Amino acid sequence: MVLLVVSALTRGVVASQGAGAQRTRKSATVSALNGVPAPRDVIGFTPGDDRKLASWAQIVEYFKKLDKASERVAFQEVGKTTLGRPFCFAIISSPANLARLDYFKEVQRKLADPRLIGDNDAEADKLIAAGRTIVLITCGIHSTEVGGNLVSMNIAHRLASDDSPETREILDKCIVLLVPSLNPDGVDIVKNWYDKTLGTPAEGTGPPELYHHYAGHDNNRDWYAFTQVETQLTVDKVQNIWHPQIVHDIHQQGETGSRFFLPPYTEPWEPNVSPIIQAGVNFMGTSMAWELAAEGRAGVVINGVYDAWTPARAYQHYHGGIRILSETASARIASPTSVAFDKLTPQIGVNPKVRSWNFPLVWPGGEWKLANIVDYMQAGAFALMRNAARYRERWLRSFYEVGRNAIRDRRPGEPFAYVIPPLDRENQRSWQKDGLDTLLSILERGQVEVRESAAECEADGIKYPAGTRIVLMAQPYGSFAKTLLERQHYPDLREYPGGPPRRPYDVTAHTLPLLMGVKVVEVRKPFSFQSGSVTGGQNDKGSDEAMRLLAVRTSRRVGIYKSFAASMDEGWTRWILDQYKISHSPVTDADARAGDLRAKYDCIIIPAQSSQQVFSGLSKERYPAEISGGLGEGGVDALKRFIEQGGTVVTLNEASQFAIEKLDVPVKNILEGVPAKDFYCPGSILKIRFDATSPLTRGAPMLESTTDQSIAWFEAGPAFETTSDDARVIARFADSPDVLLSGWLLGAEKIANKAAILEVKKGKGRVVMFAFRPQYRGQSIATLPFLFNAILTSTVAPRVP
Ligand SMILES: [Zn+2]
Repeated sequence: MVLLVVSALTRGVVASQGAGAQRTRKSATVSALNGVPAPRDVIGFTPGDDRKLASWAQIVEYFKKLDKASERVAFQEVGKTTLGRPFCFAIISSPANLARLDYFKEVQRKLADPRLIGDNDAEADKLIAAGRTIVLITCGIHSTEVGGNLVSMNIAHRLASDDSPETREILDKCIVLLVPSLNPDGVDIVKNWYDKTLGTPAEGTGPPELYHHYAGHDNNRDWYAFTQVETQLTVDKVQNIWHPQIVHDIHQQGETGSRFFLPPYTEPWEPNVSPIIQAGVNFMGTSMAWELAAEGRAGVVINGVYDAWTPARAYQHYHGGIRILSETASARIASPTSVAFDKLTPQIGVNPKVRSWNFPLVWPGGEWKLANIVDYMQAGAFALMRNAARYRERWLRSFYEVGRNAIRDRRPGEPFAYVIPPLDRENQRSWQKDGLDTLLSILERGQVEVRESAAECEADGIKYPAGTRIVLMAQPYGSFAKTLLERQHYPDLREYPGGPPRRPYDVTAHTLPLLMGVKVVEVRKPFSFQSGSVTGGQNDKGSDEAMRLLAVRTSRRVGIYKSFAASMDEGWTRWILDQYKISHSPVTDADARAGDLRAKYDCIIIPAQSSQQVFSGLSKERYPAEISGGLGEGGVDALKRFIEQGGTVVTLNEASQFAIEKLDVPVKNILEGVPAKDFYCPGSILKIRFDATSPLTRGAPMLESTTDQSIAWFEAGPAFETTSDDARVIARFADSPDVLLSGWLLGAEKIANKAAILEVKKGKGRVVMFAFRPQYRGQSIATLPFLFNAILTSTVAPRVP
């Protein structure tokens, strides 16, 4: 009986009431229930307490103790993070279910791929009756959104200790996979910075470094490219083993908008997502919002802000599962904040001061703290799990139907397959090989079957040689392959009719053949071929090795400018150079200001970052002196001297504006000050023509069958104009009717034929300016040669003997 009383207490922590008053419920103060430790018994405080963060070691320790004390929890390490911390997840369910995990995995495997049961309805009915809803809850991918990793302990504790009928139903009917943090390294990076700055003007700010070593916030844009080890572990060890029907991804948003976001997402949806998944997302999000409203939690919005376009955030949408994003309003890391009602600001699809159909209970404004964040997150997760339990059979059947639709014969008008011809002999050791290997390994990790034709075959009237790879669309994850292999046509959405473009939540293109310089052909009509090996993609790394050796031989001394206003593009630049074993060192503001750069470097890369941030850095009022202030005049002078003395400076994307403003290059950015209604390109793939005689373009994969065309990943970049003899145009954007290859572009004529890569001579050195990101999120292999050639062609300084 004691158990029931206790469980009622552990439920809500703080809940706000509608229109006006806030009421504080009793805190979860009960410890060591039934031998099950509460978080504070292990970490010394209750998750949600003001100004308290847990280290990753503490969180792991808590889950280990829970595992030991509770028959409902199994916690395991599945690998190491980028910086070597344990990457873990917990499986939480009834003891009876935990004893039969292999059986439930097998049920999932068969329902996910109905070919395994011969499309047998009776067998499917049996499996659906026997299975459990698999719910994956992922926390803390964005480490400054600290509520996520904290609430994971509360969720686990409640599931492990509560004996209410609703929790028992969840445990009986669901298997909950709980990832306490998708980025354990960042848990400590943020905690260390937060603790260090407590009581200083920097309290509550984000850390002056990327909270994921390479990807920063982009770690949640990696769910199809799989570049980072944390993404790989989640996909390989959790997602692909368990095929969850429901994935709940716990995030935080800004301080001043709605308190809590849930799906339905806004338009646009990526068109390859199954309609069944789309409807399931809508149902789940709306059902959760309904429960939160009934519990008096105000400020919950559905169908606002977040769209469902990019697969970079939604692996599960192509793998049979729904993705329920939640976004709770933030405080100042773990410090309370206060938002007056009249300071609440509109977001896409919602004005938080006005009641509307998708925002029925307005939050009155006032104090907002970590306890509120953790409370909303926990309430959301339990509403989700209750739904998952209540509609167990419906979720399993829906999952099975997604699989059945995926394997059915293609209808007229739908592509039948994509074919990937083998590389010509001369391209065997080239960037094309690297691109092909990477593309195939992505398909493999996404569980796409790739067949290899054992003999010549003919498709849509074209003959392909033996060794051609064939990706049939009728297979369980054919939609994942299709969305990555085809070109995107992003809809022309406006804020109001005739108004400026409506910002997409992320970028608008993800066409791998373009990004990776690989020829892939869509086949419309069914064709037959002699099937050789069926693989999940053959990944032979020979060419990578060749490139790596080449890179090592170059021995250029490479510096990468590293701002304390951390740039994700800096992280991606490091990642790419590390992949190809090119050594590099960071150039900080202090390093630059100290001067004498030519003695240390041949080439300095300034990754994409605004000119203002590069020059001014973090605010001197807010941050300690050693990390504030940016390059400043001293750093600019040192860079100019470096160039005069023969050094190469490479500027990427927005950083090219810094070169224009501060390094005296005779170049104009024709997009400067152009409003979005006249030019807009929020992350798309464009066509460029390049000067094939320049050493900067050596080895670049050609677009399709051309001899001088490639792509550019364009996102908030400039476009150059120059009349100086000192500036050589290495590449230009294509003419306006052709320039967009994939994604969304308004005002194509503005950049048509403008320079996209420039090599500007100054003194004995030069500045190589890119109008795009040649190493975009580790994906644009097609344009890596431009960047690498800029390094390889930099002049080695004469060494003092
Ligand atoms: Zn986030």
